[in-house]
Amino acid sequence: MVKITVVGTGYVGLVTGVCLAHVGHQVRCVDIDAAKVARMQAGEVPIYEPGLEEIFQDVLRQKKLTVTTDLSEGVASSDVIFLALPTPPGADGSADLSAILAVSKQLGPLLERYAVIVDKSTVPVGTGEEVARRIAEGAKAEFAVVSNPEFLREGLAVQDFMHPDRIVIGSDSDKALAVMKEVYEPFIETPDQLVLMDIRSAEMTKYAANSFLAMKVSFMNEIANLSELVGANVDAVRLGIGPDPRIGRQFLRAGIGYGGSCFPKDVQALQYTAHQAGYDFKLINSLVRVNELQQRRLVEKIAKYYGDAIKGKKLAVWGLAFKPDTDDIREAPALDIIPDLLALGASVAAYDPEAMDNTRRHFGETGNLSFASSALEAARGADALVILTEWEEFRAPDFSALRDHLGQPVIFDGRNLYDLELPRQADFYYESIGRPVVKPS
Ligand code: NAD
Repeated sequence: MVKITVVGTGYVGLVTGVCLAHVGHQVRCVDIDAAKVARMQAGEVPIYEPGLEEIFQDVLRQKKLTVTTDLSEGVASSDVIFLALPTPPGADGSADLSAILAVSKQLGPLLERYAVIVDKSTVPVGTGEEVARRIAEGAKAEFAVVSNPEFLREGLAVQDFMHPDRIVIGSDSDKALAVMKEVYEPFIETPDQLVLMDIRSAEMTKYAANSFLAMKVSFMNEIANLSELVGANVDAVRLGIGPDPRIGRQFLRAGIGYGGSCFPKDVQALQYTAHQAGYDFKLINSLVRVNELQQRRLVEKIAKYYGDAIKGKKLAVWGLAFKPDTDDIREAPALDIIPDLLALGASVAAYDPEAMDNTRRHFGETGNLSFASSALEAARGADALVILTEWEEFRAPDFSALRDHLGQPVIFDGRNLYDLELPRQADFYYESIGRPVVKPS
């Protein structure tokens, strides 16, 4: 059993803390947000993440996990301190390290015996050294900083943390490494899951992973756009290239671009790192632009379909979260697309299984944006359905019920959810991304 403090209880920190407690470590979670901490102390999970609630309740009941706002309490007796703090994009695209550096500065005087400080946040190359400098300024005890980037996916976070395909640890200290191996020992099923390297390479690994995945998405989006022009179907192309193990089947779905709290900011931060290093990283530069354009394509399709008649049209929007199985709307395409639709003069009735509260908070109350209690309710009387997130519950709608609810049988699908045969048989107008338009007979 290792005594662990996790600072920051967001999507990464809370999942990390809960899973580490679940395998038997003694964990304290610290967060600056007093309201969030109070909710957790009362047994409430502040985020939606499948499978998290049950384990959270369990480790809380067993007192394997405690939650506090007080960083100082317990740090002195911790063997390991995870930093799972936000690193949002600054105005220039660089990662904002203020939370990490502020906490690092506070940690020094609190350490009373050897501790390993683990950077779990996504941070630019060189941050580990900066964190170590900040801690050293006031340190009363010996410590080591290691980089341990997180690869969990929101919506699958618990499963990913419990069964990681790899655990990357960047360290220059054998002593720290031994402690980290003890922390992760319960999760390691095969020796090659543990990937050890130096701190700078570990920091770069996380940016390389996310940027590579973002590049895969953008590449397919470009193939989709070209397919529309030359009469090909991007879904057929996807099925044609995915079986090649050098390419792989995942992240090949065309759509309205990547979003979320990680890809956009990490691509930008890597772009910034390249710029600072004097390297003209051409691929990364175009990635940012391609994604911006892709997010606009669905609105352009809708605007083109209606022309001036868009004014006063009622559109049903299915999906607000940046991806399914999460309530996270950070950098979700919906946050740009909805205002664009409203600006064209349409009204929007939106529905999402988990992200409506966050979206309501984001937009506030606005006259032309309303929230519906179900997918079919959103569709009631709408001139068209616009699909922005590929939630499972949207995948197999009853097309005849949908037709009855909608004022007009028109779908703009930003996620290519349906085989073209389905809207064709149901006699819908159906426009998706990179595939032929289905027109009613
Ligand atoms: P988040 O915004 O969900 O959570 C951050 C938490 O830190 C919040 O609860 C906030 O209140 C707290 N916090 C902020 N300042 C604090 C301080 N000074 N002291 C204590 N708590 C403080 O962020 P997240 O999505 O969990 O991401 C954290 C890091 O992990 C980021 O660097 C992110 O890039 C990286 N990451 C995220 C994901 C993901 O899917 N969300 C995946 C891998 C890596």
